[in-house]
Amino acid sequence: MALTHTIYQSPVFQQACNQFDIAADILGLEPGLRERTKRPRRCVVVSMPVRMDNGQIEIFEGYRVQHNLSTGPAKGGIRFHEDVTLGEVAALAMWMSWKCSLVGLPYGGAKGGVIVNARDLSPTELERLSRRYMQEIIPFIGPNIDIPAPDLGTNEQVIGWMMDTYSTHVGHFDPGVITGKPIALGGSLGRREATGEGVAWFIKSYLQDMAITPEKTTVIIQGFGNVGSEAALALYDWGAEVIGISDFTGGIHNPKGIDLKAALAYASTHKSLIGFTGGDAITNEELLVQPCTVLIPAALERVITKDNAANLKCRMLAEGANGPTTNDADAILTARGDIEIIPDVLCNSGGVIVSYFEWLQNLQNYYWTKGEVFDKLYRMLAKAKASVDETQKKYGCSRRTAALVLGIARVADAKAKRGLFP
Ligand code: NAD
Repeated sequence: MALTHTIYQSPVFQQACNQFDIAADILGLEPGLRERTKRPRRCVVVSMPVRMDNGQIEIFEGYRVQHNLSTGPAKGGIRFHEDVTLGEVAALAMWMSWKCSLVGLPYGGAKGGVIVNARDLSPTELERLSRRYMQEIIPFIGPNIDIPAPDLGTNEQVIGWMMDTYSTHVGHFDPGVITGKPIALGGSLGRREATGEGVAWFIKSYLQDMAITPEKTTVIIQGFGNVGSEAALALYDWGAEVIGISDFTGGIHNPKGIDLKAALAYASTHKSLIGFTGGDAITNEELLVQPCTVLIPAALERVITKDNAANLKCRMLAEGANGPTTNDADAILTARGDIEIIPDVLCNSGGVIVSYFEWLQNLQNYYWTKGEVFDKLYRMLAKAKASVDETQKKYGCSRRTAALVLGIARVADAKAKRGLFP
């Protein structure tokens, strides 16, 4: 059912709603509960004046959408990107609700976004914008209300400035308000690697189920940021060959294998992969349809579409990014039946799991070793994989729908049991 009368209306929000509807049909949710579970609970739109280095004042727009607050404080990252829309943020918030619920975290779902190309800002401008965004959303967030984190275009430094802004406002060090912080500010060991490490864990586990060995595995990754590069390193360490990587400027393809350490050093110095000589230059569109064992979209949503789904030449599609596959493309891939899909809400859940660990450590003021963090992470990933596989068998549905059924069922159940107030 299309939500036509909503400020969130956009292709990506509709994509999330369509996915919800398939799972809600399987669960047989009654109409009232179904709508209540689907709709975002609240949103805030903020307008942020920022003094630029040239003395001029520029106004930026940002959002925070809290989709679900019924199962715990909301949780979800903050995206800085020039194409951010309210509808996109709402879709990402909805996916956070299902993801947290699927892996058993005591959280609801939220997401934030600011319309900005962070690469256009100087470090001082980026700091002023980051602090101003946090200042504007302070009335709506808190360690027991809504706990943001990094996402596309934001990093540990941005999160550190935001934590400082919040702590200054409340008058004391309060690291539990946000996760993905630098270690010196209460960040967790392993959080930087967590999302990519989790993506790699699922890939290795499903490849093992398919009896595909590391030496037989080639990997192509779209997006060489936090998620893409960490997944690349983990798979390389396992023995797989990474043959394609890309960023916003385009890609590098080398069927003999890319020297990842050299690529990372190059990207860190040049702020992009343009000019990296470790392979042939290739566009992002062409990279997605090159032959490989595992394709990992790890940048933006809606990159696997009805125009390229039939041309994918991978055995496995591991969704590091949120929402990379449109509904049309999903239908094409399901009909093809020759590609194993690890859906976003499962595949990239390692990030929010270790964010949860970071929050727990902050609340307890007791910090864990990296070994403890990864040990607990792998156990939660294994449990989530087993329950998705079981649900898929039970309903005879796709892995994506099974993951969503699990996530949506818990949220709907909590809402039903809480009842309506007043
Ligand atoms: P990031 O900013 O660290 O990296 C993003 C990468 O994508 C960069 O290399 C950037 O150049 C590239 N990129 C941007 N636009 C592109 C385009 N049009 N085509 C190709 N590449 C493009 O972001 P990230 O944190 O790695 O997030 C990537 C994805 O993973 C997003 O969908 C995000 O929602 C999802 N995700 C992130 C986390 C996390 O912990 N950071 C957790 C779960 C999911």
